[in-house]
Amino acid sequence: MIAKNRVMILDAAYDEESLKDAVEAVFREFPLDMEGKTVLVKPNILAGEPPEKGVTTHPMLVKAVVDKLKAQGAKVMVGDNPGVFGYGRSEKAAETARISGAVGDAFVHLGQSPVKTSLPSQDVPCVMISNEVLTADLVINLPKLKTHGLTFYTGAVKNTFGYVVGGDKMRVHSQAVTPKRFSQALVDIFSVRPPDLTIMDAVVAMEGNGPHHGSLRNVGKILASNNAVSLDAVAVTMIGGNPRSILHLDIAAEKGLGAIDLDQISLNTEIVPIPDFKMPVTFIPGVMGMILNRFLSKWINCLPQIQEDKCKQCGLCVKHCPTKAMTMAKKSYPKADKNVCINCYCCQEMCPEDAIVLKGRTLNFIRGSSR
Ligand code: SF4
Ligand code: SF4
Repeated sequence: MIAKNRVMILDAAYDEESLKDAVEAVFREFPLDMEGKTVLVKPNILAGEPPEKGVTTHPMLVKAVVDKLKAQGAKVMVGDNPGVFGYGRSEKAAETARISGAVGDAFVHLGQSPVKTSLPSQDVPCVMISNEVLTADLVINLPKLKTHGLTFYTGAVKNTFGYVVGGDKMRVHSQAVTPKRFSQALVDIFSVRPPDLTIMDAVVAMEGNGPHHGSLRNVGKILASNNAVSLDAVAVTMIGGNPRSILHLDIAAEKGLGAIDLDQISLNTEIVPIPDFKMPVTFIPGVMGMILNRFLSKWINCLPQIQEDKCKQCGLCVKHCPTKAMTMAKKSYPKADKNVCINCYCCQEMCPEDAIVLKGRTLNFIRGSSR
């Protein structure tokens, strides 16, 4: 009989003792030999927001994990390749998220030693991955439970997109131009180095307009597993979704990277769904949604629109648009060209002012898209 993948759901709060207890319980369940090992701890730092905004993995959880690893004799590195890129941005994002301050000299800038890495992907045959990801003896993944405009849900597997350095993420988006193709590339990147252990911050989750500008939801949980795909399946079930409706989880399961059917997952407790958890506006629920999201997503999408009363004309959305669909004329506001936009929503994710909304589900086949 094949052993089921194990996922733990633990009660926790942003409190030193509570997180210490949760982390101890996780390592009892999933023991790792850490003595003398180099361990990369990979939180979600995204755009670098203070912990109160619920965008990034909470620094108290990161610190609790780092303390445990150090006590076990590991040499610890903590880092991420946040969505924002450019000189000094990575350090600044980690500082604002109060993660570099929490872990002191364990913080590393992951963007400094990229290694060209082949992927088994038609769209994205290679990608620049941080050397630390490839050389660490152990990788510990610390995602945050959030929604996402493009992938609907972002958790353990999606957090490994941060293996890719800086602007190379834009290239991935520009080569894998539909949700399905991006999900395939995402799984290929994940499979370069599946984490040895994932501990998800679901103490405060983000619903609705995630991963940057959604609403916060008190969940009070830590999820943990040595299989990131199965952990995501449990988290998606908790937020009221079907793991098969999340394309990258479905693809990962098909590739044998982890079980997503609950009867193949062993749990320490039952899953208690979070009532009325809000998915992003891009997500179409139900059976119809499974079909539309999976097979017609390249034809049916929302478009980013600028709210001029909020926009500070900083230009970040223009800089982070992988297809140059977003442009901004002098002394004007940015505008997305619907014929060039690939609906990746990086612009919305990166906007520091929450000035971009996704509106008007658009039928791309009417506008003649050839994607
Ligand atoms: S990132 Fe946001 S604030 Fe900056 S120009 Fe774009 S819409 Fe305006
Ligand atoms: S305009 Fe926004 S959603 Fe469209 S391709 Fe550019 S970054 Fe992606």
